[in-house]
Amino acid sequence: MTARSGTPWLVARATMSKKIVANIDDARLNTPVQRIERDSAGVTVHSARGSERFDHVVLAAHSDQALAMLAEPSASEAQVLGAICYQPNLAVLHTDTSVLPERTAAWAAWNYERAGDSAQESSRVCLHYLLNKLQPLPFAQPIVESLNPVRPIARHKILAEFDYSHPVFDLAAIAAQKRVPELQGQQHTWYCGAWTGYCFHEDGLKSGLAAADALLASIRVEMDKPRRDRAIAELQRVAMDDVAVVPTHFQENVWATRKGLVLSPRMDESTLAEAIRRE
Ligand SMILES: Cc1cc2nc3c(=O)[nH]c(=O)nc-3n(C[C@H](O)[C@H](O)[C@H](O)COP(=O)(O)OP(=O)(O)OC[C@H]3O[C@@H](n4cnc5c(N)ncnc54)[C@H](O)[C@@H]3O)c2cc1C
Repeated sequence: MTARSGTPWLVARATMSKKIVANIDDARLNTPVQRIERDSAGVTVHSARGSERFDHVVLAAHSDQALAMLAEPSASEAQVLGAICYQPNLAVLHTDTSVLPERTAAWAAWNYERAGDSAQESSRVCLHYLLNKLQPLPFAQPIVESLNPVRPIARHKILAEFDYSHPVFDLAAIAAQKRVPELQGQQHTWYCGAWTGYCFHEDGLKSGLAAADALLASIRVEMDKPRRDRAIAELQRVAMDDVAVVPTHFQENVWATRKGLVLSPRMDESTLAEAIRRE
């Protein structure tokens, strides 16, 4: 796909999620988290695989799903995550072009259809996405995804149906979104997802990166040494796996001490009182 400016666009293909999963050492597919218990040392995640201990948990599910996983949500978690309501949306994948405008010249990527009555109109938006216009497909036959179709689609032309839910951004939800930062890190728990923004893919990515950054920043002030060492070791492993690093810089430092004192320098350059001893 090429934008009008000539800038090449990257087209996300169906294999994208498979590629992401392939890069995760210990991916757990189709293993819903049943319950998350938190204590002062970390979290216990319960699923059909049993109970596992972790230092932290990042919940990248919808706010209501995240809340349902918490065994004992704090008052602020219950208020913020519970304030956002979700609306069910039906998506139908099909080849019935009768839902598109009569004139093919008017077919757009997004085709909005008004409902017959105002109650239906205001409850859920009806959109027909012409997928061939959204991304290049290796065939000419028009493929449509209808979101909340307001009129029947020919049954024999339906390829699949999906139930989705979208957050409803009313005043309570917008007020709750502003309080998400106050939840971050509470009881070793972090939140991200498109629901924290406008519910676009970019919002999911942005909030995921922000949660990862905040989690990493929290490690710098982790006072429990074994936990900090574990986190730093994991961080280095991820960094080395993600980016090939060839060390080209070797640091040399010089410390001077008062006569009679000896300092054992550390690789991380920290100068700690406990590293100083008498000669
Ligand atoms: C038909 C349709 C068209 C859209 N079009 C666009 C568009 O053009 N552009 C755009 O930017 N956005 C679009 N969106 C919105 C966008 O796709 C979503 O907002 C976004 O994918 C949500 O991402 P997320 O990671 O926050 O949540 P999700 O992708 O919903 O991920 C949440 C995950 O949490 C998992 N989960 C839930 N409970 C548990 C549990 N107990 N244990 C373990 N895992 C659990 C779920 O299985 C799911 O995988 C569209 C959405 C729909 C439905």
